Amino acid sequence: AKSAGGNRFEFSDPEADARAITRHGLTTALPAALERGEFFIEYQPLVRLGDGRVHGAEALVRWSHPQHGVLGPDHFIPLAEHTGLIVPLGRWVLQEAVRQARSWHEQAGAGDSAPPLRINVNLSPAQLHHPGLVADTVDVLERSGLPPGALCLELTESALIGADEDLLKPLRQLAEMGVGIALDDFGTGYSNLANLRRLPVSVLKLDRSFTQGMQQHPADPVDRKIVEGIVSLAHSLELAVTVEGVETGAQAEQLRELGCDTAQGWYYARPGPPDCLHRLSLADAV
Ligand code: C2E
Ligand code: CA
Ligand code: CA
Ligand code: CA
Repeated sequence: AKSAGGNRFEFSDPEADARAITRHGLTTALPAALERGEFFIEYQPLVRLGDGRVHGAEALVRWSHPQHGVLGPDHFIPLAEHTGLIVPLGRWVLQEAVRQARSWHEQAGAGDSAPPLRINVNLSPAQLHHPGLVADTVDVLERSGLPPGALCLELTESALIGADEDLLKPLRQLAEMGVGIALDDFGTGYSNLANLRRLPVSVLKLDRSFTQGMQQHPADPVDRKIVEGIVSLAHSLELAVTVEGVETGAQAEQLRELGCDTAQGWYYARPGPPDCLHRLSLADAV
């Protein structure tokens, strides 16, 4: 209840109380869950729109909760951010995803002419603020043997937009090593496009709301113009454009026509276990 002191309101909002209890229960359970290995990662393929081949995958964390079943990140990432657990959890995701990417590279073998698969990992603002980010990332890459160019870190537009030089410095260091930096959920924040120049980003991830505007074929001409404008500016700044939330062939086709480079969404594959990438690669090899 809202007022802790007055009994009058104690049961005024049972739903909010239930949510608070759940939240509290989950909060205290988070560190133990990490220790017990209850988190796991699903991978969602990124597909190159030009030739339809698999470009890489985004790592998406899940919690296999002993009572509640599998919980998506929206149920616990905000809590993990609030309690600070996001730093060790995020480090675990990075380590695990990089290890997985390295194993894809090994399986692909030397005879494979296709460029090595990329792995995209989400970073919370708290991880960006953490002084160990660069050292941890370098350490994870060195221990796995994954080339830095195969890793891309995704940060939301809102996490980066107000960032000062001190906060951008670790990202610049990583970018100089060859690690990709993607601006996630682009178009939902308040950044003006000119601001992009000062950010060490190499990829724009266009938010799903733009993809939803491509439902009809042909889509609303204004929606198309907006995407066209973003893509042309991104390319002139040498940024690649990834689109998320592609659910239909019509969306994929229009986004390809508009010059987007890579796409991700249920149309290609839902997030799944590490071997879901092989199935998709085999499918387009046939
Ligand atoms: P995001 O980075 O924008 O990730 C894309 C989300 O869209 C994922 O939700 C994915 O399952 C979903 N999605 C993919 N394709 C489609 C589609 O075609 N249609 C629709 N409607 N949805 C699609 P998910 O897995 O629930 O993740 C939610 C958010 O949680 C992510 O949004 C990301 O911000 C965050 N997240 C996930 N894993 C991590 C992590 O390891 N660390 C951090 N800090 N955040 C994470
Ligand atoms: Ca993301
Ligand atoms: Ca996103
Ligand atoms: Ca999104």
